[in-house]
Amino acid sequence: MDVHVLVEKQRQEIDMLLRVQNEKFISVLQRLSSQHISSVLKKKNEEITKANTKMIELQNHVWKLETGNQLWQRTARDAEAAVVALKSALERVRKESNEASSECCSSSNPRTPEKIVLSCRTCRSRDSCMLILPCRHLCSCKTCDWMNQLCPVCNSVKNGSVEVLFQ
Ligand SMILES: [Zn+2]
Ligand SMILES: [Zn+2]
Repeated sequence: MDVHVLVEKQRQEIDMLLRVQNEKFISVLQRLSSQHISSVLKKKNEEITKANTKMIELQNHVWKLETGNQLWQRTARDAEAAVVALKSALERVRKESNEASSECCSSSNPRTPEKIVLSCRTCRSRDSCMLILPCRHLCSCKTCDWMNQLCPVCNSVKNGSVEVLFQ
């Protein structure tokens, strides 16, 4: 056998061996990288799922906050409207009481109107406490009322009388 041919054969064998080794190596590399990629993808997917869940939670939270805010705003609006209604009612009552007090009372202090007690028109000493009917004049004390047949103010015929109680 020629040395040259032998060397050539050896070279070819080595070459083939290297090629096989290389192919094996490449396939291992590919498998590893595909495993790595899939694991990375899996991890990424998990992260995406987690992020989605988190986002949904956040959206729910925001929605709850908005709903709560809307409820709160509505409650505040209702309360505001109630306050406005109360204020206007109070203002009306105050106005009416002012008008009423300025109408009936020329006293310096309208908040504490003096007790108006008229003296009896007959005896002029005791307080009037009897309301004469039907004219409705409050002008007689109890004692004089028994004796009076006519109203001492308008002289109309009395058909009855009612005692008025002052507090
Ligand atoms: Zn009297
Ligand atoms: Zn009278």
